[in-house]
Amino acid sequence: MKPIKVAVVGAGVVGLSTAVCVAEALPVCSVTLLADKFSPDTTSDVAAGIVLGEEYPGRCWTFHPELKSAAFERQTPCVSDIPSDRQRRWFQDSFEHLLAIAQSPHSLEAGIIFSSGFQIFKEPPSNKTPYWSDIVLGFRFLSESELKRFPHHKFGQAFTTIKCECSSYLPWLLKRFQKAGGHVEQKKVGRLQELGLRYDVIVNCSGLGSRDVAGDSQVYPVRGQVLRAEAPWLQHFIRDGDGKTYVYPGIRYVTLGGTRQVRDERLQVDQRDSESILERCTLLEPSLREARLVGEWVGLRPGRWIPRVEREELEVNGSGRVHVVHNYGHGGWGVSMAWGTAVDAMRLVGKCLQESSLPAKL
Ligand SMILES: Cc1cc2nc3c(=O)[nH]c(=O)nc-3n(C[C@H](O)[C@H](O)[C@H](O)COP(=O)(O)OP(=O)(O)OC[C@H]3O[C@@H](n4cnc5c(N)ncnc54)[C@H](O)[C@@H]3O)c2cc1C
Repeated sequence: MKPIKVAVVGAGVVGLSTAVCVAEALPVCSVTLLADKFSPDTTSDVAAGIVLGEEYPGRCWTFHPELKSAAFERQTPCVSDIPSDRQRRWFQDSFEHLLAIAQSPHSLEAGIIFSSGFQIFKEPPSNKTPYWSDIVLGFRFLSESELKRFPHHKFGQAFTTIKCECSSYLPWLLKRFQKAGGHVEQKKVGRLQELGLRYDVIVNCSGLGSRDVAGDSQVYPVRGQVLRAEAPWLQHFIRDGDGKTYVYPGIRYVTLGGTRQVRDERLQVDQRDSESILERCTLLEPSLREARLVGEWVGLRPGRWIPRVEREELEVNGSGRVHVVHNYGHGGWGVSMAWGTAVDAMRLVGKCLQESSLPAKL
């Protein structure tokens, strides 16, 4: 039997995770990974890489900004359009996958380590026990005496999670994909349809590129800038619950962040952002005054009201239809959710194979 030809578009953390899942779980498929950029040049390479989650806000915040401020005033989150149990499963599947690597001899090569620390809040959040609190390890609230270390904050959580360094993890996933028989091609795709003559199923993991390849106007950039510093004495992460300021010790460097600038497409480093990041991080961890900065990076998160993980059929110029599985729009949490959504995308590819007798393309 001829293999079913599958193209996965995108070689960031979402595309590589999906390519590995499909190549390993569906051996009837011949999988090709297509991308115009590979590690170290993807957004995923810029990610701070802490494994955490925030409920995706849902459609109303994006299309009705007035609801967003009303929701903030009432301290009630907007109802998300993805059922909470699906988001939770994405996080849990990802966490368990990364945890297994962190506990294996591959940990350092794959860039995946345990990371313990504190998430602190200037005002107690409306939900003190987030949905991932029983998935990460040892979740608890900080005591009064522990909080004295952070005089500007009134509430805190302590837990152990994972730090995933994509500059190591992406090459590690690529090797795993090739070991499973996967092929790699460097190519810029115009529209997904153009692949329909060569492939039976197209899996779209192009992140922000989905604005063009899938014509999705609901995807927008959220600019993020981070610094990396040498400060080997730091062992614990500190994250302000507002998500803007964080200090994440890693294997060689400490990542200092950050910014979240919605619809800002600038890829160059902004010196004022760097100064602000350093000032905010030093307020949280004064010993950073002694740290040596080793670099500054900028990436554009693929923002969307929810990640799009679903099937579609597209017309291919006069020669029928092609199956497409989308997996993009992970915003600020792509590293944390990638494996979970990849498992869903792989199942959707499996459904395409089951529901239609696909004639394999030559
Ligand atoms: C500063 C910063 C800090 C972050 N910190 C964290 C964190 O701590 N934890 C966390 O979970 N997440 C974090 N994120 C978010 C995370 O980086 C993203 O959610 C994730 O990288 C998205 O992955 P992706 O694979 O969808 O996209 P990308 O990494 O952008 O990959 C997209 C791929 O698609 C390809 N592509 C696009 N268009 C085309 C085309 N037309 N033709 C061919 N190929 C194409 C690209 O070349 C690339 O290979 C952070 C992001 C930033 C910027």
